[in-house]
Amino acid sequence: MRLTFFGAAGTVTGSMHYLRVGRKDILLECGLYQGKRKESYRRNRKLPFDIRRLDAVVLSHAHIDHSGNLPNLVKNGYDGPIYATHATRDLCASMLPDSGRIHEYDVKYVNKRRKRQGKPPMEPLYTEADALRTLDHFVGTGYARPIRIARGITVTFFDAGHILGSAMVLVEAREGDRTERILFSGDLGQPNLPIVRDPTPMPPADTLLIESTYGNREHPPVEDIKARLAAVVNQVASRGGRIIIPAFAVGRTQEIVLHLH
Ligand SMILES: [Zn+2]
Repeated sequence: MRLTFFGAAGTVTGSMHYLRVGRKDILLECGLYQGKRKESYRRNRKLPFDIRRLDAVVLSHAHIDHSGNLPNLVKNGYDGPIYATHATRDLCASMLPDSGRIHEYDVKYVNKRRKRQGKPPMEPLYTEADALRTLDHFVGTGYARPIRIARGITVTFFDAGHILGSAMVLVEAREGDRTERILFSGDLGQPNLPIVRDPTPMPPADTLLIESTYGNREHPPVEDIKARLAAVVNQVASRGGRIIIPAFAVGRTQEIVLHLH
């Protein structure tokens, strides 16, 4: 088994992990690196492996930093399956075309400036049409159902309790007479979140890849959130102020709306 981290290592966005087991090549996640425009464009555009060798792509959840470069992968010739849960597939059906539109608008804006500077126009990373074609490659499945993705390799999704459809991915690969179990946590939720179910206990594994975005931070208990939010809202409302809440669009925003409601 060989594992290469092409993103979300030393940084939080652009999840992309390349797994070679036996003679099969599997990509775990194909996320968008999100940073300053120029650097993001450069990092996202050039996929750092040979696409023709890929046998399958497996996606843990729909967040753009995990799924957002899939249309670029397909645009550059990937023709195989993308395995994900049904809900992840459904979310991607809205989010990836939306992301394509954003790339198109963004490049239009940049090209206006480049034209004034006498520079050649840039191409969008991918378009809405590229994203729509990507959806045809998705193979949706349920939780806890092993699915064969290549000869000798199965994948099983377990609820990660992070956002709708989010999953931990167990890859089981037969090499000779032994089976290697690689567990990829994806992004993990906390227990007692108001909308999604609690994360399933992790199945046993030989190798564990685990997200560590908040690995160095202790979150306050989920049960306190409502009271703390209410205190802030009431305080601002009582002096006639306005409240602006920047929040991730998928997952976090729905939680906040629910609490406010
Ligand atoms: Zn996420």
